[in-house]
Amino acid sequence: MKYIATIGLEVHAQIRTASKMFCGCRTDAAHAAPNTNVCPTCLGLPGALPVPNRSAIEQIVKTGLALHSTIAVDSTMSRKNYFYPDLPSSYQRSQYEDPLCVGGHVDIVVNGVDRRINLTRIHIEEDTGKLNHMPDGTSLIDYNRAGVPLMEIVSEPEIQSAEEARLYFQSLHQLLSWIGVNSGNLEEGALRCDANVSVRPEGQKEFGSKVEIKNVNSFKNVERAINFEIERQIQVLTDGGTIKQSTRGWNDATGKTVEQRSKEFAHDYRYFPDPDIPPFQMDRTLVAEIATRLPELPSARRQRFITEYAVSPADADLLTANTAVAAFYETTVAATIKQNGTARDASVWILGEFFRLLNDQGESLAAASERMTPAHIAELIGLLNKGTITRASAKEVFEICYREGTAPEAIVAARGMAVIGDSDALLTMAREAVAANPKAVADFKAGKDAAIKFLVGQIMRQSRGQASPQAAEAAVVAALAEV
Ligand code: ADP
Ligand code: MG
Ligand code: ZN
Repeated sequence: MKYIATIGLEVHAQIRTASKMFCGCRTDAAHAAPNTNVCPTCLGLPGALPVPNRSAIEQIVKTGLALHSTIAVDSTMSRKNYFYPDLPSSYQRSQYEDPLCVGGHVDIVVNGVDRRINLTRIHIEEDTGKLNHMPDGTSLIDYNRAGVPLMEIVSEPEIQSAEEARLYFQSLHQLLSWIGVNSGNLEEGALRCDANVSVRPEGQKEFGSKVEIKNVNSFKNVERAINFEIERQIQVLTDGGTIKQSTRGWNDATGKTVEQRSKEFAHDYRYFPDPDIPPFQMDRTLVAEIATRLPELPSARRQRFITEYAVSPADADLLTANTAVAAFYETTVAATIKQNGTARDASVWILGEFFRLLNDQGESLAAASERMTPAHIAELIGLLNKGTITRASAKEVFEICYREGTAPEAIVAARGMAVIGDSDALLTMAREAVAANPKAVADFKAGKDAAIKFLVGQIMRQSRGQASPQAAEAAVVAALAEV
């Protein structure tokens, strides 16, 4: 029997605001001493009243606009009731009936094929506190994170494989950082994903019961957890069992999901509109104004790089991985064109040498670009295109510039790295190479043209890559004519 998997993701993203969702406590206190960043509101003390964070709401609207959602005019905050130690008020403020953003979509490319994953909604939520389980069996609670603004992005159950789910999550990660609403810091939990997974026999119309895997926070683990869960469910069904709706946790160490609680439905939470927060009414003019704050989005910028700068789709992906890379590239293109280079020259050097050095050194673009600037790369391309240095020297100059931040022209001057095109000097080197390599000379006389290449190679080695390859070949031909 063949089974089909169905997946829907719920992604929680912390919103980049200075203060919490309903009080004035700071949001950047994740590393502060426990319970120092709290107030009566985020501790859920009786009588404390919430004040919604305008910036958080605006940033969710911004996200909704970037993801092609409809921004609701009327939306309400609700209470999701459940008791858990990290939730001091015994309810989480969230949205239920009327979320702020409705619909929308995320476009991804899976094995070269375009796929559109539709969104159900994007809603406002607040984060819970953090439990720390101690070795002696006690648990400690830290409310610093309680009340930090979140948005929850809910997909339709349309994702068909673990790989698609990972690509969808990665695409959201890129977009949210790109438009500046989320830090993108997965390690610190700024973006977390719950994966809902079900399987059904091929030919069956209705979805199977879903299992929700909680809090998977890396791209790799989203894929691993879903793949494990699909296999597990198929095995249960194959063995004649049934899948019951439940919540499972992902264990990174064992590579397995484990049952946490069963049968949990929305109606169990007794959602009701929060009586402390009047319904929101989004002002259309404000929504239009927020739309003007959106930068050119990754997909548009990627397409523009392909058409305007003639880079390949794969290179365009790399050059739009984040806004920093894209901006660095475009600044380099502008500077390179002034040096009579092309946009392609810029992408070749950035994706080739620059990315290789960043990888080798484990350095960020931001840190490295304090030494190696777009102007430096353009200057180097100019020197190469003018024939001032050879390609081999250019790579060396690039590395020195990367390490030291010295301008390429200064490096070439200080180290005498300009190309050796002088025919007398090259002829001397060619004669020496001919004298030192009688076998190559014999090969040449026997009609083997490869011997010329070999002798040019000797000159390149002796000149540490600085000889002009064309001039060196001419010198070798001249030296061979003499013997
Ligand atoms: P709940 O009320 O339990 O939160 P929802 O219907 O709101 O459930 O869906 C939550 C998430 O689960 C959504 O991302 C949705 O796409 C996904 N989902 C719903 N039904 C299924 C299913 N049968 N299989 C896989 N995912 C599902
Ligand atoms: Mg849910
Ligand atoms: Zn507070």
